[in-house]
Amino acid sequence: MKRDTDLCQRIERLLAMPEYQGHPLHEALGQLWQAYVDQSARLERVTHISDRYQALAKERENDLDERFRKQLRKLEKLARISDHYQRMMQDLNAALSDASKRDVLTGLPNRRHLLQKLKEESERSARSGRPFSVAMLDIDHFKQINDTLGHAAGDRVLAGVSRILESSLRENDLCGRWGGEEFMLVLPDASPDAAQALVDRVCQRIRSHAWAPDNPRTVSASVGVSTHRPGEHYSETVERADAALLEAKRRGRDCVVISPD
Ligand code: GH3
Ligand code: MG
Ligand code: MG
Repeated sequence: MKRDTDLCQRIERLLAMPEYQGHPLHEALGQLWQAYVDQSARLERVTHISDRYQALAKERENDLDERFRKQLRKLEKLARISDHYQRMMQDLNAALSDASKRDVLTGLPNRRHLLQKLKEESERSARSGRPFSVAMLDIDHFKQINDTLGHAAGDRVLAGVSRILESSLRENDLCGRWGGEEFMLVLPDASPDAAQALVDRVCQRIRSHAWAPDNPRTVSASVGVSTHRPGEHYSETVERADAALLEAKRRGRDCVVISPD
């Protein structure tokens, strides 16, 4: 660059020297000099335009980058919110599904849930050939409890019997409220003898339970038990348990009757 500047000054000096005016090379050098000056000015303009264009492109790139990041942050936020709502919906669904299978007063599985369990057990039994038993338990003279001590006391007895039932079951057993003061136990893999032993224990616990002072002194229950027969529809198993329960009532209550195989 320094050499260029020196050369330029030399040429300008040479062109200005009076002794070279009229020299045949003076005019050619003058024209060449002018062409060089014009060319340099053009080059400078092009460089300037190119620099400006590059700066603009960079600015645009930065701007796009920033907009992209902003959009990405927005999307991430939306995804988090959507995940949160999805989890809430799942929890709500699970809570609804659970609530639809539970009895409000006792917290036990309701009839809908019991029917589902009966269906599952009869299918499982058909596959495995292993029996399951059904017990229908009905609180004795429950109407009297309501009539003498009030409906609230009756409710407390229902809740108390429910807790006794729950805590008497084996891992895969299910007990639920069939309706009113009637409860059902579904006992997988239980032979009639095994079912009777479990139900006897339940009745003994109900009989000897220390009810609160504003509750009845004693409560008893009658139970009918049936064991699922191969090929039988589960509704027939339930009907046989019901018939056995009626028989228990007929025999004077506070007892267990096993339906014949
Ligand atoms: P049994 O020994 O023959 O079974 O006589 P019971 O009095 O137990 O049977 P009954 O069918 O005559 O009466 C059942 C009563 O249970 C009538 C009904 O008002 C009462 N009941 C049903 N559901 C509830 C409930 O959720 N709470 C209360 N407190 N009582 C209920
Ligand atoms: Mg009853
Ligand atoms: Mg009843």
